[in-house]
Amino acid sequence: MTKRFKPETLCVQAGWSPKKGEPRVLPIYQSTTFKYDTSEQMARLFDLEDSGYFYTRLQNPTNDAVAAKIAALEGGVAAMLTSSGQAANFYAVFNICQAGDHFVCSSCIYGGTFNLFGVTMKKLGIDVTFINPDASEEEISAAFRPNTKALFGETISNPTLEVLDIEKFARIAHKHGVPLIVDNTFPTPINCRPFEWGADIVVHSTTKYMDGHATSVGGCIVDSGNFDWDAHADKFPGLCTPDESYHGLTYTKAFGKMAYITKATAQLMRDLGSIQSPQNAFLLNLGLETLHLRMPQHCKNAQAVAEYLSKNNKVAWVNYSGLPGDKYYSLAQKYMPNGSCGVVTFGLKGGRDVAIKFMDSLKLAAIVTHVADARTCVLHPASHTHRQLTDEQLMEAGVRPDLIRFSVGIENAEDIIADIEQALNA
Ligand SMILES: *Cc1c(COP(=O)(O)O)cnc(C)c1O
Repeated sequence: MTKRFKPETLCVQAGWSPKKGEPRVLPIYQSTTFKYDTSEQMARLFDLEDSGYFYTRLQNPTNDAVAAKIAALEGGVAAMLTSSGQAANFYAVFNICQAGDHFVCSSCIYGGTFNLFGVTMKKLGIDVTFINPDASEEEISAAFRPNTKALFGETISNPTLEVLDIEKFARIAHKHGVPLIVDNTFPTPINCRPFEWGADIVVHSTTKYMDGHATSVGGCIVDSGNFDWDAHADKFPGLCTPDESYHGLTYTKAFGKMAYITKATAQLMRDLGSIQSPQNAFLLNLGLETLHLRMPQHCKNAQAVAEYLSKNNKVAWVNYSGLPGDKYYSLAQKYMPNGSCGVVTFGLKGGRDVAIKFMDSLKLAAIVTHVADARTCVLHPASHTHRQLTDEQLMEAGVRPDLIRFSVGIENAEDIIADIEQALNA
């Protein structure tokens, strides 16, 4: 499936290939457990000697079909679904970092991930250094230490819309013998496939465009299978030395290219249990079936909105990598030539108070704590998600106090622009 078909076909067909007499549509395996004939069969599953389902806290066939579809779209070898994007980001790093380890991360990342890495994981003894993603290779390299285990970035950062120079990040990571982990939530594999540019692991909040209809919170981790863990075995003992909780099995020896995802499933899911419900995986799959149709419409509408805003004299500034004058225009042309995403950020002349008045006047665009939905929605981080921060702290996080995050949906662009126009005039 992976090699033969193009993304549009994979969106519709990958993951679930029914055999004779089986349901055409991916079934929801709404079952916690799975039946075996002999005690010996079950025992082999617990020893990871046979593959098979036994308990939905670790694996479920509905989830695995959807994970396989996302793996095919990204061009990876294996994937797992998680209960949220936060869980995906946590597992992606925690699978290769333990207390005493360190990783390097772009400072331009989602606020929730910033807290997870900078506050909560620090309490677990895993240290992070945030770096400016636009800094030179030398400056970013200076953040690496002997105990550094990964480099992390977002393809397009939420909400600041910086575009990651994936090839540069991959070079830096590999020079230091660690994998590059990329959060590809905003472009989705329809617009950008980070593995083609050297990334090793991709993570997603499937809550956003992949689900697309604001029905289910979820996440996904995809492995390219390209990182050679054994070549850096001293850095990754969890993958390259025996796991006592599985009778001394070594993941890289037993599972090869599947080692990373197998460990995340057999160890992290078993112990921490942030699995996506099969019901949500089913809904996610329905979203994925139209991802290739929705993404171009999001991009087309966002381009029209960004162009309208850039010409309006009430607007102080606009960020959208599809605008030729944008700081990230050329990186976006390189990594996502068919379009970036549907999110546009801008500021109004008059700052914070004018932003609030504008948002309250919108009729079609709804104020919600969500982004990347079929319905146009809007958020003012300084008043909502980041409201505990002062203006100075906001600037440090790269979020201007007047920044409005406008998530352009798949409605008619003229209707969206008319709504913006009447709110600007209000
Ligand atoms: C929303 C988001 C997350 C967190 O995902 P949840 O599904 O809300 O847990 C992580 N990364 C990015 C880029 C996001 O937009």
